Amino acid sequence: MRKIVCIAIASLTIVLFAPGFGSGQEAVRKFGIEVKGGPMDSVLLKDYAPESSLVVPRTFVGKARFPVIDVHSHSSMNNIKTRADVDAWVRTMDEVGVEMSVVFTNATGAAFDRQAELLLGSYPKRFQVWCSLDRSNIEAPDFSRRAVAELERAYKKGARGVGELTDKGWGLEANERNAKPRGQRLRIDDPRMDAFWEKCADLDLPVNLHIADHPSCWRPLGAQQERSPDFQAFNLAGKDVPSYEELLAGRERMLERHRRTRFIFCHLGNQGNDTAALSRMLDRFPNMYVDVSARDYEIGRQPRAMRAFLERYRGRVLFGTDMGKDKGMYQGWWRLLETADEYIPGRIWWPYYGLELGEPLLKSIYRDTALQVLNLK
Ligand SMILES: [Zn+2]
Repeated sequence: MRKIVCIAIASLTIVLFAPGFGSGQEAVRKFGIEVKGGPMDSVLLKDYAPESSLVVPRTFVGKARFPVIDVHSHSSMNNIKTRADVDAWVRTMDEVGVEMSVVFTNATGAAFDRQAELLLGSYPKRFQVWCSLDRSNIEAPDFSRRAVAELERAYKKGARGVGELTDKGWGLEANERNAKPRGQRLRIDDPRMDAFWEKCADLDLPVNLHIADHPSCWRPLGAQQERSPDFQAFNLAGKDVPSYEELLAGRERMLERHRRTRFIFCHLGNQGNDTAALSRMLDRFPNMYVDVSARDYEIGRQPRAMRAFLERYRGRVLFGTDMGKDKGMYQGWWRLLETADEYIPGRIWWPYYGLELGEPLLKSIYRDTALQVLNLK
């Protein structure tokens, strides 16, 4: 057995370093097979959509096995503007088994109040609305005081959490177009944020933070890029932003200073590709939580490692979607987490493998952890 593996690796090495590899003209050998050019050489990566011949069970899960609290959705992404929009969303939630959705309003002031009224006015038990950070005039000496005052005001109007607040490198809640020069950007570990994080703890408000991004964003767009062209707009390689590692280091510095505040780092903390590294963070900081939103592909490509991770960190991982509000989207999550289906079509290149989570763990991720962290008990 060992011999076969060695031969295969040796022949692959020869191919990779053979002159003319990839030119489409010369035949090369890969794993002993002669590879020749043909019509597939002109197919664009973005059009790659192989049809699988694999015959395996495809389980349809229309409704989650237990009631679900979705801790990550956006009013803007879900296009929630009118009472009719809210009604339609609640009908979908009923159908698929979502008891409550946390809605990030991305707003402060009157814009927050309008959304709070729209969602809580109609369905106070089906939604939580979270406010944003008032980041106007961050250089002014009264920035912290104003940010805290607006937080207290929004809390009185119904805000039950803060977020999602994002720093992919351009600064907190900033982007490439409006970013300040590198040294002036607001970071989560900036002393100007200290009073705000402490006020979140005083008011018992959890915070959802998106720090850094998927690590592939810092790798060049090209043949070695891990994620498909659908994600290239998120790429940061060569841009005027700190490295992935620097951004995560800021997260550690902030957590060291603010032990009382509950921080949910969304998208598995952008470390779903390395559950060992994520585990070290969760071990160090008991007030750190993660949500699984928009990381279906990290979960589905490593079902055994991810199941072990979820078991070990039961009580620290929350369910969230961040992928719109289509019925099929929710049902895709149920299939991924509840079934043993294999080779489930995914949205990058990677087919997913169902985790077949057991009842206590599923209940914890779907609902019980959120009841604790979101003060719903
Ligand atoms: Zn989000």
